[in-house]
Amino acid sequence: MKVKLFVVTVAALAIVTAAFVPTEHYAGSATIWQLALMGALVALSEACQLRYRLRGGINAFNMMEGILAPLIFAGARRPAMITCASAILVGDCSRRNQPLKVVFNVAQWTLAVGAASVVFHRLQGPSLQSSSSLTALVLAIFTLVAVNHVAVNAVLLLATGRIFGTGQGGESPLAGFIGRAVTIAVNIVAGICMCAAFMWHPLTLLAGVVLVVGFYAAGHANAALRADRVRLEGMQKATHALATAIDVATGLQAFLTEARAGFEVQEAELVLFSERGATVHRCTAAGGAGDAGCIERHALAEAVASRLAEATRFAAGDGTTAGAILAGGDHTRVLAAPLRNGGTTIGVLFLYDRVGMEGFEYGELKIADALSREGVGFLQRVTLLQAIDEERHKLADILGNTSDGIFSIESDGTITSWNAGLATMTGYVAEEVVGTRHFGLLRPRDPQGRDMLFERWADLIETPGGLPSDVQIVSQSGQTLWLSCSYSRIPETETRREILVVVARNITQARELERLKDDFVAVVSHELRTPLVPIKGWAQTLLNRGDRLNEDQRRTAVQSILAQAQKLESLVLNILEASRIEAGRTDGDGVADVGGITARIVEDTLSSRPDRTLRLRPPSVPANVRGSAVWVERAVSNLVANAIKYSPDDEPVDVIISIEGNDVLVAVTDRGPGIASDSQERIFERFERLEESRKQTGTGLGLYITRRLARAMGGDVTVSSVPGAGSTFLLRLPASPVALQPANRMPEQRMIEEREGNVVRLH
Ligand code: ADP
Repeated sequence: MKVKLFVVTVAALAIVTAAFVPTEHYAGSATIWQLALMGALVALSEACQLRYRLRGGINAFNMMEGILAPLIFAGARRPAMITCASAILVGDCSRRNQPLKVVFNVAQWTLAVGAASVVFHRLQGPSLQSSSSLTALVLAIFTLVAVNHVAVNAVLLLATGRIFGTGQGGESPLAGFIGRAVTIAVNIVAGICMCAAFMWHPLTLLAGVVLVVGFYAAGHANAALRADRVRLEGMQKATHALATAIDVATGLQAFLTEARAGFEVQEAELVLFSERGATVHRCTAAGGAGDAGCIERHALAEAVASRLAEATRFAAGDGTTAGAILAGGDHTRVLAAPLRNGGTTIGVLFLYDRVGMEGFEYGELKIADALSREGVGFLQRVTLLQAIDEERHKLADILGNTSDGIFSIESDGTITSWNAGLATMTGYVAEEVVGTRHFGLLRPRDPQGRDMLFERWADLIETPGGLPSDVQIVSQSGQTLWLSCSYSRIPETETRREILVVVARNITQARELERLKDDFVAVVSHELRTPLVPIKGWAQTLLNRGDRLNEDQRRTAVQSILAQAQKLESLVLNILEASRIEAGRTDGDGVADVGGITARIVEDTLSSRPDRTLRLRPPSVPANVRGSAVWVERAVSNLVANAIKYSPDDEPVDVIISIEGNDVLVAVTDRGPGIASDSQERIFERFERLEESRKQTGTGLGLYITRRLARAMGGDVTVSSVPGAGSTFLLRLPASPVALQPANRMPEQRMIEEREGNVVRLH
């Protein structure tokens, strides 16, 4: 509103000046056609504005003051003003300026011409050639400059709050001042030359056309050269940004920042079409890069994508669909370059509203096309990189998560990779070994116990058996491990030397089991044979001389046969039970009477070993547990048999059954050698036997089976022992809430014959 008011004031001032200023004809004043010629020059000068860039700022520049000088010099005031007004009007209209701007330009130049005419005619000398006329002309041009300057700055101040030379267009104040000084100097020189030409011959003024057009053309060429340089520089920087980036978001943001600077536009935007709509990357006028966002539709991109094969400009309201969309948005002009991959458009690069100077219009389109091609190349490269990266991650996941150890070693012994599985096995992490030749740290040996030099694998692989499939190593913690290794030799490439890839599986346990099984077979065959010898011997004796033996001798013979047969039975039952457990077949249903079962075992043991003392303390109340009676019998008889086996013949064995909370406990105590505390857990493992008790027969299966059965019934078996003083094995089984039916009761309960306090002695 203030601007409009100011423009109207200037216009009114110009009209008033024109109305009151007299027309002064004097010798040498211009005729109508001369005025027309001067007016044409003014109109041409107004139309051919030259925009130039000085130290970062853009200024508009024409030779208006110089071209107007002949009008002031010979225009006879009012005719000069009218000619100026008409010429500026024509010039501005040809540039399609906004109406308000046209009115302002016409008014301020007319006013300036009026003021300058008054100055000139006041100060001019007796003739136009006189030196005082020259001074008057210079002062008149200054007046033109001054009025123009005041008017323009006033309107700028009202419109933007700033004046020329204070950062307008981004230039420094010094640059603004230099620009104005150069303009004034050029105009004074041009003005004097134009007036001199007019005095020599009015038609010589036509030389002014050459001056204006030449000046304009030179300026234009300069602008084109500058724009050419800026765009190419921008393209180079944008291409570089793409070449150095490896992820889409960063690469495209850097690319757009450079494209925006290079094309001197307000905003650069890249729209990439996707299945879900469009992804928009943006670099805005605020200088910051906008976030990449997904939107469902981008109307402008859709409008141009289907029809665009190369970069094209659109302007709001230019009659195209894109022009219509622009008219409804924030921008007025756009340069759109499609991103084409094969025959399809995968996106569009938009460069909105050029703020820089014109020039290089055609080349600019070519550069935009080149940029979009670079964009496509970048996207293809990044997609490829992503695919490679994904594959790499998958592979790394597999290598990292496999329990097998995998490592690779170069022919000079340098370890090039070492996976997590191997780190877990050996205790050495990748950082400690990769890049070194320290495989020897693991002290690898072949199955024959010979040291292996893995560093010399290239030679070893040539000799049969040089690289054995089973390798023994020592882990960081000093544990000996057996690895089953498979080897793959990977030939060298241009970038890598020949390597050996080794996949190693930890087979320590399997080997150990294998060893134990071998031992077991040997032990079992020996165990089976041992009881057969006395059985065979006694049977032979009974057969040959049975009639000659007395009652006691016969009884001893039969008892010995019975004891050995029981041993055999126990051994066979243990083996069978072990294989049942290994196969996962267990049968724990039912209710078992622990008191009855234990009493029978004690009785059976005593009948085969009448020389031993076995003391049983039965439970005060019936002790029933949930589980198989066979299992309970197996568990208790293993414990009783061990107590008898591993304690001296003259020492008694106590079997005490009690109830504690919801558990039934069977404690078997002997006064044997006892078990060292560090072996107390080990003896429950399969095939484990203590070194000191190896002179006794056994398979190492009894306690293992006992514990497995106890646990299957929800209980456990443990040992407490003092080496040298004996051991107590405690079988704990959860009591059954269901009472045993009388019919199921063990008949052995009836066999208690003698009572000594709480201890029941069986004979
Ligand atoms: P086996 O008796 O057939 O060898 P077990 O599994 O029953 O197998 O026992 C494992 C080992 O535990 C025995 O070899 C023996 O060394 C030790 N052991 C078991 N019971 C006793 C015990 N009562 N006193 C001392 N050592 C025992």
